[in-house]
Amino acid sequence: MLREIKRISSTTAQRVGEHKMYQPLPDTGLDQISPFLLLHHHGPHFFQPYNQGLPFGPHPHRGFETLTFIFEGEIEHADSQGFKSVIKDGGVQWMTAGRGIVHSENLSAYQRENGGPMEIIQLWMNLPAAKKMIAPTYQGFQKSEIPVVKSKDNKVEVSVISGEFQGQKGVANSVTGLEFLNINMQKGGSLNLKVSPDKNILLYVLNGEVKINSRLVIGTQLIQFGMEGESIELFADENTRLIFGTGSPINEPMVAQGPFVMNTTTEIMQAMRDYQMGKMGVM
Ligand code: MN
Repeated sequence: MLREIKRISSTTAQRVGEHKMYQPLPDTGLDQISPFLLLHHHGPHFFQPYNQGLPFGPHPHRGFETLTFIFEGEIEHADSQGFKSVIKDGGVQWMTAGRGIVHSENLSAYQRENGGPMEIIQLWMNLPAAKKMIAPTYQGFQKSEIPVVKSKDNKVEVSVISGEFQGQKGVANSVTGLEFLNINMQKGGSLNLKVSPDKNILLYVLNGEVKINSRLVIGTQLIQFGMEGESIELFADENTRLIFGTGSPINEPMVAQGPFVMNTTTEIMQAMRDYQMGKMGVM
């Protein structure tokens, strides 16, 4: 049985720094698709030489994880744990903030000087109470390190970020068993995704046109599914890129404030104090 489509939401671009950004999650009437809290689709944008880059200087996080897909450009990550890397197009950056980390995200020094294209997606994934205070970690992978599964007709390429797809294990470790796929479909390609019935789904179309369970979905639309059913059928009417994730819903109270996502207001206050006292590190 196919997963029922509950809602297909369109988003309008807003400005961030000098580029445009789409935010399909959270959205009016859609607080979260637990454990998925936020999706920011930045760009596509072409930066001129000697640009200011991205306006994401050092800032803290606690209680959740971020996953950044780089579709175009070079993104430099640096944090208070001493992790630093530049990941280029086709790569991902997965940061588990856990009990606290301070990080910055920007174009690489090369792209700030020389300009170039940028298109990225950043997701926020919640952590359950039992894992909110784990040690912070960062995993960065270039495109060449990420396994790819191709369809027989070569029209569909699936990069396995985490979890497993058609027997291929993903490159990244998820402390909560999240599965993430980066999907590239050429016109005429088709794909069947298996999903376990207890998981929530994040499915976002970057561009193109694709039929999802026979419904037409276009670029910058997010699809929300019900919990019934165990598969999703995709057919590309045009060349299409999508990201797909699954995760177990976290059935706990949630208080999200700025860069912190905790279970109670008291814990948010504690996070603010800990950050101000330098307990999440400094950059
Ligand atoms: Mn951040």
